[in-house]
Amino acid sequence: MFTVRLLDDTIFQVGKILCVARNYRSHADEFGNKPPNEPVFFLKPASSIIGPRENAVIPPYSKLCHHEVELAVLIGKWGKNISVQQAMSHVAGYGVAIDLTLRDVQQRLKEQGLPWDQAKGFDTSCPLSDFVPASRISNPHELRLKLSVNEEIRQDGNTSEMIHDIPTLISAASAIFTLEKGDILLTGTPAGVGPVVQGDKICAEIEGVNWLNIGIQ
Ligand code: MG
Repeated sequence: MFTVRLLDDTIFQVGKILCVARNYRSHADEFGNKPPNEPVFFLKPASSIIGPRENAVIPPYSKLCHHEVELAVLIGKWGKNISVQQAMSHVAGYGVAIDLTLRDVQQRLKEQGLPWDQAKGFDTSCPLSDFVPASRISNPHELRLKLSVNEEIRQDGNTSEMIHDIPTLISAASAIFTLEKGDILLTGTPAGVGPVVQGDKICAEIEGVNWLNIGIQ
């Protein structure tokens, strides 16, 4: 069973992790990709979660693992076809996530027109911090996200750069997937993604929310 902790001491059992592709223009640009007009989602299994001080393991079938720092949104109640207006009432808390991505595997599978879940959903691919109750975050669309590798800053962005904001993402996701208490939404990454290798130390922080400090094993 995979769980996350909300910092009022509630434990949530995680169902699914929904991730959005290309939600920051600066990141879409760095791969020459056009951001989609509608949010496009993919999933990571709950089994990909590790805690804020654990180690991630790059699987032997990859030679190129990338870091992507993201604001994680914890869903607090059941919902389907949630309106944009109602969306924020479904948020229990916010946390820091790293969407670890096997870029070489993803690229090869994409080129072959094959699904790329094994590039995104492998064990340890979703390091997560503890979550802060939503009531403590006055504006989730004005948060600085930073990620450093071995103390060198690689990503430094702001959630204000999101193409589709959190209510839009929740509403769009819930029209496809019923949202349940304990589901998590990863909201995309700003520019600066890059490789990590065995022995690296990654520190990811969202100012005013939380941080995580993981090693690559
Ligand atoms: Mg991502």
